[in-house]
Amino acid sequence: MLLSSPIALLPGVGVAKARSFKQLDISTIQDLLFYFPFRYDDFSKTSKIADLKAGEVVNINGQIEIIQNKRSPRRRMYLTECLVNDGTDSLRVLWFNQPFLTRNLKAGDQISLAGRVSEDYLGLLMASPQYEKHLQQGLGGQAIHTQGIVPIYHLTSTLNQKSLRSIIARVVNLVDKINDWLPSEIVYSYDLIPLKKAIREIHFPKSKALLEQAKQRLGFDELLLMQLRAQKQRQSFAQLKSWPVKFFESETKKFVANLPFTLTQSQKRSAWEIIQDMATNKPMLRLLQGDVGSGKTVVACLAMLNLALNKKQSAFMAPTEILALQHFKTCANFFSKEKASLAILTSGYQLLTKKGSEPKTVSKKEILKLLADGKIDIIIGTQALIQESVNFKNLVLVVVDEQHRFGVEQRQLLTKKVETGRAPHLLSMTATPIPRSLALAIYGELDISLIQEMPTGRKKVLTKIVNEEKRNSAYDFIKQELDEGHQAFVICPLIDESDKLGIRSVKKEFERLSTGVFKNYKIALLHGRLKSAEREKILVSLANGEIDILVATSIIEIGIDIPKATVMMVEEAERFGLAQLHQYRGRVGRRSDQGFCFLMTNDSGETTNHRLNAMTQFNDGFSLAQADLKFRGPGEVYGLAQKGFPELKMANFYDTELIKKARNAALDILKQDESLNRFSELKHRLGDWEEQAHLE
Ligand code: ADP
Ligand code: MG
Repeated sequence: MLLSSPIALLPGVGVAKARSFKQLDISTIQDLLFYFPFRYDDFSKTSKIADLKAGEVVNINGQIEIIQNKRSPRRRMYLTECLVNDGTDSLRVLWFNQPFLTRNLKAGDQISLAGRVSEDYLGLLMASPQYEKHLQQGLGGQAIHTQGIVPIYHLTSTLNQKSLRSIIARVVNLVDKINDWLPSEIVYSYDLIPLKKAIREIHFPKSKALLEQAKQRLGFDELLLMQLRAQKQRQSFAQLKSWPVKFFESETKKFVANLPFTLTQSQKRSAWEIIQDMATNKPMLRLLQGDVGSGKTVVACLAMLNLALNKKQSAFMAPTEILALQHFKTCANFFSKEKASLAILTSGYQLLTKKGSEPKTVSKKEILKLLADGKIDIIIGTQALIQESVNFKNLVLVVVDEQHRFGVEQRQLLTKKVETGRAPHLLSMTATPIPRSLALAIYGELDISLIQEMPTGRKKVLTKIVNEEKRNSAYDFIKQELDEGHQAFVICPLIDESDKLGIRSVKKEFERLSTGVFKNYKIALLHGRLKSAEREKILVSLANGEIDILVATSIIEIGIDIPKATVMMVEEAERFGLAQLHQYRGRVGRRSDQGFCFLMTNDSGETTNHRLNAMTQFNDGFSLAQADLKFRGPGEVYGLAQKGFPELKMANFYDTELIKKARNAALDILKQDESLNRFSELKHRLGDWEEQAHLE
């Protein structure tokens, strides 16, 4: 067998099973070895039956004395009852609805069991334990399903845990054929274990300590690749120049004085950092981090104002058309006393305002022409702005909102739009609390401005978990709020009803609410399949207070600013990630009014409870991100998963130590050979990884 052999050649795999594996992207033995578990069951404690205590999770080994199927008293269920004896005592074991077990397990068989010991009126028992017969055991006679630290893999519906585990156990010795892509001096000096050993231990760890070392090694590799890439890009950008932007102090002060609020200290400091950065001819690469509602938009406006005063152009990009429209309106307001001209260009909206005039619709062609002639100072849109054939006269600042990935690659694109050898300044804004070390790992060299405080007068949004019985009181509460002139959102996971899953959809919910509890209120429906003109009409009415309740899908997730909204009701809250819920919640209580957030759920599972409780406990993104870590696997980081970050399978995005280590190693390696030609295995791996991560 070779690493490259197709898995269909393995005994017990066959064509049908190979197809199931294909769904997991596994075709060769190598793929199988690199298919890592996502968690483990710890059955490393083996006990004698006489020593068992209720509540503990253990492995026991004994002989089956009796095994038989029964109908349960209420006859709805099959019960497999079994007595196992290990010489010290015997234990009752039960399985439910698996009558076929008695075909495989017979009295007299030696068996290994693992699970939680429980207790009922008849004494101790094990219910639905994992089992394996001693003669089936893999890995040199050692049990693989019921003893030690047992790997759990993500599956498809046609594969089960046991068969996947057995197949991996059968090939795990082939790790000896794997070449380590890390230079051995790096493995040695960064105190890592060899790749072969790491892969063996990640599947079948001999101890917790070895499992930890395996995770470290595999996580290090991922972070190293990320670092190598970021460092290489940094080197190529170091050669670029930008245009220095002069600071217009008195004009900026006047602009600030005209704002409808006073800037917070953090906003002032961030704006100042940006303005200073742009004053040099080195291109800025800065991340502006600030929680939902902290006021990042106005900071960007201060930068764009100075660009306009320098007669240079800025592009402001939002993740969705609706947000682009909102940014356009906000900016048009802030700039109403300025000479600048602003425009929005998306497939649905083309508006222009000059020197504070009322925005008017113009043709796409006209906007493109004005942009190319340098007659538009600030252009607002989505990413399409730089991807399409939009030409600028002198684009010097690019601002991107809530788009984490936006950075290095897009900058490469942008540099093609301006003179060769030059790059525009880049400001990326985010509410996601990416740790500094991680931001560095992703972007190579970048600067961070942090908005630490909320505008004064903001209150904590009161958050409550609400179950079905309390639904009506929640509605009563919403009515009170509406009667006081406030507005509410109801978020549902789907657009259309899905009968199969029984998940709430906006359409059904809209119907139900508008003919039922809220029939005397103005209620509207918003989702991504509506035309942009329609969506705009709804949002404008909402902003003008002509709509009381908006029933919407995740489309409103990011950034929408409706001052009078005070209630956010999220249906089936357990279906959303904490980052998403925090974004939803950020839509309400944005002025001095108290905001409320109702997380509707009927799922009483432990994880759901913990996650939703975190929402009631923490009000800021950073604490939530930390709480979120506990509920997720590594790599699935708060708010990052959906945003096109390279997926990390092993490394933990918050493991600053490991990130530092990887960063140092990357610098070490590049110092030895910038082109990586001396490390051909690693170079190859980097290429593969970039391809997998869909980074370009
Ligand atoms: P985010 O950081 O989430 O993008 P926004 O820029 O949308 O936040 O700002 C949220 C709201 O707070 C907006 O209505 C904005 O006008 C307002 N705002 C921004 N800065 C201040 C401030 N210093 N004082 C009061 N309100 C502010
Ligand atoms: Mg925003």
